[in-house]
Amino acid sequence: MERRKGVVVRFGSRNMEVVDNEIGGRLVCTMPGRFRMQGIRPIVGDRVEYSLSGNGQGRIESILPRETELSRPRISNIEQILLVLSLKKPAVQNLITDRFLVLAAYVKLPVIIVVNKIDLINNAEFERFSEIYGEYYEICPVSSKKRINLDRLQEVLKGKISVMAGMSGVGKSSILNSLNPGLKLRVSEISRGSERGRHTTSYVELLQFEFGGFIADTPGFANLELPEIVPESLGKCFPEIAQERGMCAFSDCVHVDEPGCYVKELVEAGSIHSSRYESYLIMYNELKERELEKGGRKYG
Ligand code: GDP
Ligand code: ZN
Repeated sequence: MERRKGVVVRFGSRNMEVVDNEIGGRLVCTMPGRFRMQGIRPIVGDRVEYSLSGNGQGRIESILPRETELSRPRISNIEQILLVLSLKKPAVQNLITDRFLVLAAYVKLPVIIVVNKIDLINNAEFERFSEIYGEYYEICPVSSKKRINLDRLQEVLKGKISVMAGMSGVGKSSILNSLNPGLKLRVSEISRGSERGRHTTSYVELLQFEFGGFIADTPGFANLELPEIVPESLGKCFPEIAQERGMCAFSDCVHVDEPGCYVKELVEAGSIHSSRYESYLIMYNELKERELEKGGRKYG
């Protein structure tokens, strides 16, 4: 039987929906019983091979190797993260932005920083932001409300599997609706206040843009908790620190209070931005404290 290729976009209780661009549209697929016995469990984002059966349904035959796998939301083959923020209403703090960037670096996915609501800020305010991040990250300034620069954002998303991240209120769902009316991000659990932390039984879903490409309906990194990074490796998640590897007097310098620290020299000279370095120190201390707590429990 002819084997076709598609992407899993959604799960039902007994089957899953697969998008096959050659056919166009979604197709309900079942899973062969042997998958369960072999411990094979497809997830959203998986590229699969399937065969068409007589009743217009498909049957998954195999899962192609996963390029990447994100745990929250659980989704495979994500190619990029769109970090959405705004500089007014709300003014997202640099520390929050830096946490998102560390989380993205940890999962080794490229980030595009989408600065939304540029209709609310002037050039100088945008330039100040660009000076901090522009050298190391791709920045795409947009206004979903005034429809500014949306064509560029569309180019970024076209043909790829992406996930959005960013605090609530920055305009993630507005952006999707401006790009493709009818698309909607799921309301995040956290914003529901009293029900905080409650588990959802629904799974993540991939939404398909009319212009081609997919986006997860659930924002990534909703709780902003730092992953299990060894404090000494945090520098790898800051490109401007990572690129100076080996330049400090001590090869194992963590750039906190060691003598001959080249990173600190660059901070003082202004070529590493002080707000980035402050974020680095805060997160370093947080990871260090966590490490000490764990060590303490071992003996206590
Ligand atoms: P989300 O929580 O990130 O999905 O944010 P929403 O899409 O719900 O947007 C939050 C608020 O910001 C809404 O009141 C939007 O109307 C507003 N908003 C979104 N985009 C823009 C924009 O480009 N400019 C302005 N001024 N407001 C915007
Ligand atoms: Zn150093």
